[in-house]
Amino acid sequence: MPHKRLFIPGPTEVRAENLAALARPQIGHRSAEFSELYNRLAPKLAQLLETKAPVFLFTCSSTGVWEAAIRNCVKERVLCCMQGAFSDRWHKVATANGKQADKLQVPWGKAITAEMVDKALSSGKYDAITVVHNETATGVMNHLGEIADVVKKYPDVALLVDAVSSMAATRIPVDAWGIDVCLAGLQKAFALPAGLTVASVSSRALDKAKTIENRGYYFDFLDMLKYHERGQTPATPAIPQVHALDAQMDDILAEGLDARYARHDALARIVRDWARRHFAIFAEEGYESATLTCVANTRGISVGDLNKELGRQWVAISNGYGDLKEKTFRIAHMGDTQEWEIRGLLSVLDRILVH
Ligand code: PLP
Repeated sequence: MPHKRLFIPGPTEVRAENLAALARPQIGHRSAEFSELYNRLAPKLAQLLETKAPVFLFTCSSTGVWEAAIRNCVKERVLCCMQGAFSDRWHKVATANGKQADKLQVPWGKAITAEMVDKALSSGKYDAITVVHNETATGVMNHLGEIADVVKKYPDVALLVDAVSSMAATRIPVDAWGIDVCLAGLQKAFALPAGLTVASVSSRALDKAKTIENRGYYFDFLDMLKYHERGQTPATPAIPQVHALDAQMDDILAEGLDARYARHDALARIVRDWARRHFAIFAEEGYESATLTCVANTRGISVGDLNKELGRQWVAISNGYGDLKEKTFRIAHMGDTQEWEIRGLLSVLDRILVH
């Protein structure tokens, strides 16, 4: 079956050059060659996240690092911001790890605001908060800088951020915003295959981890730090992905971070204009995602049939998530996607929808 060009919100399309980087010959993960690769990559990730904190490489998908952040950074009680399938799931992860976790919940399609966070944290009950920057199920991008500003008022609260579908697409100045853990898997805006997750971990979070028991074994931040300082990971990493990430970071930095973010904004605007012309946007106004548009199916079309027709032309978009399956559909505009590709997709959609 021919490959369908992916416009789904992850995994995203991987360029041939990066697929080739995955096929580089294996090297030993305790070799000087690997440490050289690791140490070459580390500053590029720090530059992307505008941080002096270490950026660790976790061989797992983002869910694993949700768990890591909870186990290492929650002492007593965590506040979980919930607004869709993924942010909701982080709360489940917290309770599954035996932590007390409260919900700060808004309906799907709505944003979490700084005011809501301030009010909840002012109770003084929490030593950590989880925030999903960009809720992939609804296409809502929270104003993370404003939320982070408010969290600064509570210096004992660790700010744990899922930037899974925003990192490498929009600016996240980790140190300026005081983010303690900022995590993202590679299969979204990094435009690489799944299997590796990157996360910055602040010195404050590392100090806090020292005071927390049962951090687990595979995801112990203190162990990660020890190996990070040697240019290694505690266990065997997904070496092909590390090669590909190193290559892709060169391309991301060569494009220019500002240019990359501007491209994402421009693509988002094109898709939003199209969505408003033909349907409506599911996300609350002012919080539309820079990386995907969740289109409200106001015309009651069959999303399943639409995707089948696209599939015949070797293209895929995404249906709505869970209960929104036929009520919305999602078009991703992240990673290495270019304007001509998005315009091509929209013109095909136009032609299908006319018939
Ligand atoms: N967080 C967000 C915002 C996501 O979109 C996803 C997956 O799409 C996840 C977390 C979970 O990622 P994974 O299934 O790769 O562990």
